[in-house]
Amino acid sequence: MSAPKIAPNRPVPAIGGGEPLFTRRFPFICPTLPEYDKVLSLYKKHYASGMITNANLVARFEAAASERLGVRHCIAVSSCTSGLMLVLKALGVRGDVILPSFTFFATGHAVLWNGLRPVFADCDPYTWTVDTEDVESRITEATSAILAVHLYGNPAAIEQLERLASKNGLKLVFDAAHAFGSTHNGRPVGQFGDAEVFSLSPTKLLVAGEGGLVCTNDATLAALVRAGRNYGDTGQYDPALLGLNARMTEFNAGLALAGLDLVDQKVRRHNQIAQRYTEVLADVPGLQFQEVHGGDVSTYKDFSVLVWPAQFGMDRDEAAAALLADNIETKKYFSPPLHRQRLFREVCEPAGRDLNNTERISNSVLSLPIYESLSDETVEKVAMAVAALAQEEEAVR
Ligand SMILES: *Cc1c(COP(=O)(O)O)cnc(C)c1O
Repeated sequence: MSAPKIAPNRPVPAIGGGEPLFTRRFPFICPTLPEYDKVLSLYKKHYASGMITNANLVARFEAAASERLGVRHCIAVSSCTSGLMLVLKALGVRGDVILPSFTFFATGHAVLWNGLRPVFADCDPYTWTVDTEDVESRITEATSAILAVHLYGNPAAIEQLERLASKNGLKLVFDAAHAFGSTHNGRPVGQFGDAEVFSLSPTKLLVAGEGGLVCTNDATLAALVRAGRNYGDTGQYDPALLGLNARMTEFNAGLALAGLDLVDQKVRRHNQIAQRYTEVLADVPGLQFQEVHGGDVSTYKDFSVLVWPAQFGMDRDEAAAALLADNIETKKYFSPPLHRQRLFREVCEPAGRDLNNTERISNSVLSLPIYESLSDETVEKVAMAVAALAQEEEAVR
């Protein structure tokens, strides 16, 4: 389907002083939450018992998540960041951890907090998740783990990474922050690697307010993470490992528990929106979309396009500025990449050697609004605004 023309009623684009396409800004993200009364009635019962943190509701949420995800152990924690920190600690990871540079910085924070050295690998030019061959090329004697990311909910190259990790005796952890509701060959994300860690913060699909969920089939690891979220204490007042207070409160667990029922619907709606964006923008020159493998379902936590200036007519930042003039807020998930950020620049492998796809992709990535309550009409208008930028450029040329 070709892009509908909006140019006729728009002699001057908003950035050139014309009328903006939207008369006012609308939110870039707005989570759909479960019914307030449902959450409160769950909470009220347990509140009366005086146990307001890490008690019954947390256990109920863990059991429900474990059943839904088909994984033996789920441990609710205070955030995905604390979950990742605890998993790396509990696995006894030492030395170097290979991870993508094209991710949110919290992936890297978990590595640094454990005193480990991040070694950044490049991403695949089509799926934008970490490139397995590039990971392999960076394995040395010092490597002890791979930390991969299901970027925007797009499952990473799970089997290849599992094979690579087992061949080299490495731990494999997935930062599944974006991926609650994603599936890989019909199996829920959450079952793979040594552990997967979800985020339950409000920009993700399953919302606890703040929270994370560690999933694993390894009973030993599960017991250590369970202790780890409670200062490392297993009940002997003599911590088994260096832990944190990373517990989840009952209210947050109630919110997440009530939210579980909404996840499938959210994933469907995100996929509808992604499909509509893709259809409207398919023929616009200079735009590239993320590839999701045939057997996989992505949550499309985010919908991002790559803007290639030579064909599109302007670069990503110019496009973002023009869209903002139309009252359309966008984001650059994730730019700059980690190896260009101050915290990581100093400690990573020499200036992040050969991360060419990462550089190109993070320089051109533009994330468009995507959430359940966004109307079809708004989605179309946003897509048309993006398409119009390329057309306006064509008209000028
Ligand atoms: C949001 C996010 C995190 C951090 O999650 P918190 O629950 O906020 O700690 C980690 N990794 C990625 C890729 C994220 O997007």
